[in-house]
Amino acid sequence: MVRVRFAPSPTGHLHIGGARTALFNYLFARKNAGKLVLRIEDTDLKRSSPELEEVIIRDLKWLGIDWDEGPIKGGEFGPYRSTDRKHIYKKYVDKLLEEGKAYYCYCTPEELEEERQRLLKEDHMPMYMGRCRNLTPEQIEAYEKEGRKPTIRFRVPENQTVIVDDLVRGRVEFESSGIGDFVIVKSDGLPVYNFAVVIDDYLMKITHIIRGEEHLSNTPRQVLIYEALGLEIPKFAHVSLILGKDRSKMSKRHGSTWVEQYRDEGYLPEAIVNFLALLGWSPEDEEEIFSMEELCERFSLERVAKNPAVFDIDKLNWMNGYYIRKSPIDYITKLAAPYLIKAGYINEQDLEERFDYVKGIVDSVREGVNVLSEIPEKAKLFFEEQIVLEGDEAKEILQMDHIPKLLDVFKEKIEQAEDIDEDFTKKVFKEIQKETGIKGKNLFMPIRILISGKTHGPELAKLMMFLDKEKILKRLDYAKNNFINLDSKRD
Ligand code: GLU
Repeated sequence: MVRVRFAPSPTGHLHIGGARTALFNYLFARKNAGKLVLRIEDTDLKRSSPELEEVIIRDLKWLGIDWDEGPIKGGEFGPYRSTDRKHIYKKYVDKLLEEGKAYYCYCTPEELEEERQRLLKEDHMPMYMGRCRNLTPEQIEAYEKEGRKPTIRFRVPENQTVIVDDLVRGRVEFESSGIGDFVIVKSDGLPVYNFAVVIDDYLMKITHIIRGEEHLSNTPRQVLIYEALGLEIPKFAHVSLILGKDRSKMSKRHGSTWVEQYRDEGYLPEAIVNFLALLGWSPEDEEEIFSMEELCERFSLERVAKNPAVFDIDKLNWMNGYYIRKSPIDYITKLAAPYLIKAGYINEQDLEERFDYVKGIVDSVREGVNVLSEIPEKAKLFFEEQIVLEGDEAKEILQMDHIPKLLDVFKEKIEQAEDIDEDFTKKVFKEIQKETGIKGKNLFMPIRILISGKTHGPELAKLMMFLDKEKILKRLDYAKNNFINLDSKRD
């Protein structure tokens, strides 16, 4: 059975690249009727925090990425948090020590730094040169007496080519001579990532390790540990880096990097998931819009590209706009509400008592927005007290001869209306046309400008319905007093 894992370190928020790794693991698990494990790798005690763990879990859930086993959920192969697994590794370390595949290293940080500097000066790649590789019992005793706390290093076999058969990158070879004996247990007794990850993946019966390309250089070390312990090596799939449009590594310069930021800016999880899926993976046809369900059916590692994925924010914006337009309006209204509340246009009570009214407004403006946070700006014309005439065209139109008359007739109709509903909006223009002969553009455009100040915007009927009687009358009065040159007409 396929078993994959997403193994974030809770040292930062969920990065867009991490989210893609999680998504690919999720899709692969679902596609293959396998299991996804969430493992929290909090080995870096100084930088890890339970709060960040919570943030990561919250953001994964927001994206709709669910796992089968994990820290809170539990599962057969737990615990699922590195710090809760400390007791597990000793057995494996002892085995390596006994077999001479690992050894104690007493070098101090100062000594190691000195070695590093020397190698750099001599134009060598800095790596551990094996000073403690073959210590005699006397040397060990002497170091112990000095009170030095040893680390444990893995004895890297000499002159071996380590082969990684990567499902994305193909065959990748590493020479062991470039690796240098590396630390597997720190002087405080805690295992380092490269060691713990092997034991954890082995004990959790992980079959495929799908992760970011940045871990490719760790892989030969991990493969050597699997081999030294005689454990079956899982399959690897290293997914390419995400680059900005300028082809440098995706960073803050290219836009937001955390999932949380995208959520706050008003991106929909459906859009983020769809977009992330296409950052590296591609379907067989040209299609671009996929629900999570469709992705689960279609995803395959064979179609994950080796070349880097380019993060195109314009595409994400387009996609998000698409989901805002196509998703059920109740759902979009709920997501848009916090932005309208923040802008002071509605409150929690409106949401409960006048949901249809809020929904109508969101529906009439969602056409032109890419992110939910743009909705207040678009919806402004429904809420603002004083309207502003926008552009010369609007001003010119209001100077046309028939406007004062049109305004008076329209105002009268509104005053007489019981309710500005669909029925009313259908009838009122026909009536005005019949009574005054004003029609077409001469009728609709001035009314739109009189009540909104703008020459464009949502459908006029919707605009009227959601402004409602009181606001329309107020705006007509305001327009009469401020926008229409009544004096010149009186002469
Ligand atoms: N904890 C590692 C990270 O957050 C992941 C390691 C792995 O997937 O093997 O980058």
